[in-house]
Amino acid sequence: SATLAAADPEVAAAIGRELERQQSTLEMIASENFAPTAVMEAQGSVLTNKYAEGYPGRRYYGGCEHVDVIEQLAIDRVKELFGAEAANVQPHSGAQANAAAMFALLTPGDTILGLNLAHGGHLTHGMKINFSGKLYNVVSYGVSETDHQIDMAEVERLAVEHEPKLIVAGWSAYTRQLDFAAFRRIADTVGAYLMVDMAHFAGLVAAGLHPNPVPYADVVTTTTHKTLGGPRGGVILSKQELAKKINSAVFPGQQGGPLEHVVAAKAVAFKFAASEEFADRQRRTLEGSQLLAKRLLADDVAAAGISLVSGGTDVHLVLVDLRHSELDGQQAEDRLHSIGITVNRNAVPFDPRPPMVSSGLRIGTPALATRGFGAAEFTEVADIIATALSREPAADLLAELRSRVAVLAEKFPLYPNLNAEPNG
Ligand code: PLP
Repeated sequence: SATLAAADPEVAAAIGRELERQQSTLEMIASENFAPTAVMEAQGSVLTNKYAEGYPGRRYYGGCEHVDVIEQLAIDRVKELFGAEAANVQPHSGAQANAAAMFALLTPGDTILGLNLAHGGHLTHGMKINFSGKLYNVVSYGVSETDHQIDMAEVERLAVEHEPKLIVAGWSAYTRQLDFAAFRRIADTVGAYLMVDMAHFAGLVAAGLHPNPVPYADVVTTTTHKTLGGPRGGVILSKQELAKKINSAVFPGQQGGPLEHVVAAKAVAFKFAASEEFADRQRRTLEGSQLLAKRLLADDVAAAGISLVSGGTDVHLVLVDLRHSELDGQQAEDRLHSIGITVNRNAVPFDPRPPMVSSGLRIGTPALATRGFGAAEFTEVADIIATALSREPAADLLAELRSRVAVLAEKFPLYPNLNAEPNG
C-alpha cells in the first residue's frame, strides 16, 4: 500500500515540517521529551488494529494471545521499576489515569484536597471546569508566600477542617521535592486516601534521583511521556488491595478498548527506564536544571527584575519569576521562541497578571538531556536564555543568540534516521 507521502501529502508534509522544527530548535517545555525510535516503532505497529477490552488472560475479544504478552510485559516492568504491588497500563493519558483513580476511590460529591492550579497543581487536581472540579468538592492547598514551598501545616489544617476522602500530592509546575511521609501522616490522621501524581518527576524516581512515592501512597498515577520519555499515555500504580477497583474503574469505568500499540510502546519505554543510559540521562537533566538556575540567579538577570520561584530547583525545571520584571510571561515566551528555544509561559504563585499572559516561564531540561546535552551545553543554553531575558532585544543580539542556538542544535542531531519524506 501507498506510503504516507503518496497517500496524504498534506499530512506527510506537516509531519516533515514538525520533524524539522524539533531538529532545529531547542525544546525546553518541561513536560516534553523525545521518544526513542524503538518506542515510536512499537506505537506505529499493527497493534493499532486490535481490540482487547479486558486485561491479560481475561479479554472480551478473541485473538488476544500476543497483546496479552505485551501488556503483561508492560505491567511487570513498571511494577519492577517503581516497586509497586499492582499496575494498570491502559489509561490513554495522565488525565485519564487521574479520572480513573478518582472514579475508583471516590463517589461524586466527596471532598478532595489538592494543590491549587495557580500554585502549580494540575487541572485534574480540582480545577473548576475540569471533571475533578465538577464531580468532587474541591479544597486546595497552596505554597507559602515566603519560600514558595508547599506549606504542610496548611495541608494539615485544611485536611483536619474538611476531612477529605482523598489527598492529592503532585504538580505540573513546582520546583521542590514533596514530603511524601508528611502527606501520608496527614492522610492517616483524617482517614483519607493518598494519591501521588508523579507525572512530571517519574523519570527522576525511576533513576533513583527523587524519593519514590510508591511506598507512601495508596495510588500513584503518572504519564509516560514526560521525564519518563516514552509514548504519550498514563499508568496507575496501586496497593494490591485496590487493584481490582482500579482495573474496573479504567475498564469499563472510563475507557473501552485499550491502545495496545501504546501499551507496547510503554513496555519498551519501561525497559529503557531501567537502564544505566536512562539513569545517566536523568542525572544530566538535573545537572542542567541546576546550571540553568544558577545562571538565572546571577546579578545581571536579577538587575532586570527576574528571579526564580522558590529560589532554585531540585527537579527537572525552573520557574522564572517575572512578577517584578517589565517582561511578562507571554513576551518572554515569544522572545525565546524568536531565537529557537521553546518554553511555555506559566502562572507563578501570587501572580498579578492574568493566566493567559502570566508572570512566569516554565523551563525544563529533560528533552535536551535526551538529545545528549551535558554540563557544557546546558551552561551555554543557560547563558543564551539569561541574555535573551535580561537584555534589550536588539536585532543584532537576537541574531547572535539565534546562531548560538543553531550551533547547539546541530551538535546533537535529533532523529537522524527519520529524514523528511522527499516529497514532503
Ligand atoms: N498530571 C500532571 C501532574 C500533569 O502535569 C499532567 C500533564 O500536564 C497530567 C497529569 C495530564 O497528562 P495528559 O496531558 O497526558 O492527560
